Amino acid sequence: MALSVSAVATVSAQQMSANIRVASDSSRVIVEGRSTPASVWSFLDNYASIVGLGNRVERFTLIDEGGNEIQPRKIAPGQFDSPKAAARFRYEVSLKPPLMAPDSAMVSWINNDRGLLMLADLLPLSFRRDSNGSNAIIRFTLPQPWRVYSSEIAKGQNEFEVRDVGQAVFAVGSQLRTSQMNESGMLFSLVTDGEWAFADREAFELAGKVLKAHREVFGTMPVRQASLILFPFPQAVGPNQWSAETRRSTVTLLMGKLPSRVGALTQLSTPVTHEFFHLWVPNALALEGDYDWFYEGFTVYQAAQIATQLGMLTFPEFLNSIARAYDASKIEADQWSLVEASTRRFTIGRTSVYSKSQVVAFLYDLRLRSLSHNKKSLADVYRRLIREHPAIGDNSRTAKTNDGTDVVTKELSAEIGSEDFVHLFIRSPVSINLPAELAPFGLKVETIGLRTRIAVDEKISKQQRDLLRQLGYNDATRGPRSK
Ligand SMILES: [Zn+2]
Repeated sequence: MALSVSAVATVSAQQMSANIRVASDSSRVIVEGRSTPASVWSFLDNYASIVGLGNRVERFTLIDEGGNEIQPRKIAPGQFDSPKAAARFRYEVSLKPPLMAPDSAMVSWINNDRGLLMLADLLPLSFRRDSNGSNAIIRFTLPQPWRVYSSEIAKGQNEFEVRDVGQAVFAVGSQLRTSQMNESGMLFSLVTDGEWAFADREAFELAGKVLKAHREVFGTMPVRQASLILFPFPQAVGPNQWSAETRRSTVTLLMGKLPSRVGALTQLSTPVTHEFFHLWVPNALALEGDYDWFYEGFTVYQAAQIATQLGMLTFPEFLNSIARAYDASKIEADQWSLVEASTRRFTIGRTSVYSKSQVVAFLYDLRLRSLSHNKKSLADVYRRLIREHPAIGDNSRTAKTNDGTDVVTKELSAEIGSEDFVHLFIRSPVSINLPAELAPFGLKVETIGLRTRIAVDEKISKQQRDLLRQLGYNDATRGPRSK
């Protein structure tokens, strides 16, 4: 397994490159490479709510053009200062799985069987900063019989051309299984490992159904190549637990192991519908800023709506998810608007960004459908956004970007023909009066103990029935069905 990495030295000075060597017997990688010459080097130290990542970088060494090693000074975790600038580097990264299981979908780790390698926390930050539109070459040296898979462009055996280092995710392992399909012009890969209660084929078919349904919302596919990495957690977790994240065109999903096939497939469907939606929103939009209130909360709503259409969620379950979100959002009260809460997502704004915003998306969709006599829905807003603000393919880094909140609120107002909704529910702190908001649509809100319940009124008009039917209601559905 001691393969040579001398090829790194032959790469031209402008091209950033790295070789990542996976040691077979330890949770660590050895990285050697070349970047723009520098005397100060730094690595990502925190991501989302995860801190202290810089501490994992060890034995950081620079190598000058004469091949002499320079020992930089560690000035902080993941921060190094050298007396002399150099372009070549070598270091090790300790990749023990994180202590908190949910973090394992968001940072690199490796164990005896498999690992997730995310360049954002593995490579120096200069790889993102100095790339100037050119691609980085990333090679992997793996123990036998390990393999590497990714949505990135493969250049050869274990070699990839990476467009956006901050977003690239690689799955490595000794027993990985893959399946591929072409869905509406997008090459989709499932990379999985471990034993599940369902067959790989069933997970693959579910993914295909969801991609097709999302394409119908947007009218287009988001990228040419995407993948779902479905792994067990590297820690011992309860069977109901899952954690997921979507980076550019890679959905990473870690799941506990429910024993029943139906239960496990239902569990799979929730993160798959939600995370696949992120391939379009926000990942395929040329929008920036903290507009999480839209790309998280509205996504939760729209994904649940799609799951209902696909029969993965019953209509009562769909209403129940709104009721749960409403109950959760009441805890955070009405201190901040959704826009303000989005800037505090990882500290205190979380329930607003996800739960309250999900309720607001429901109210918006109901109003738009009603006002347009069922000719329009929230899907029209998504279609317009992807048409008018696409982050086009390889040029996404240089695409003209606009503020997400400004653009999205403008589109929401344009579709509904008034700025009142956005002003009241998105830009202002508001306490939602759910019974009053839902009554016009034939939905009644009851409180049982501390829990809210939403149900269809016994007497509803034809117009109300037509609208609710579009959302998945059918008259035969009575009460929540047990899963
Ligand atoms: Zn999300």
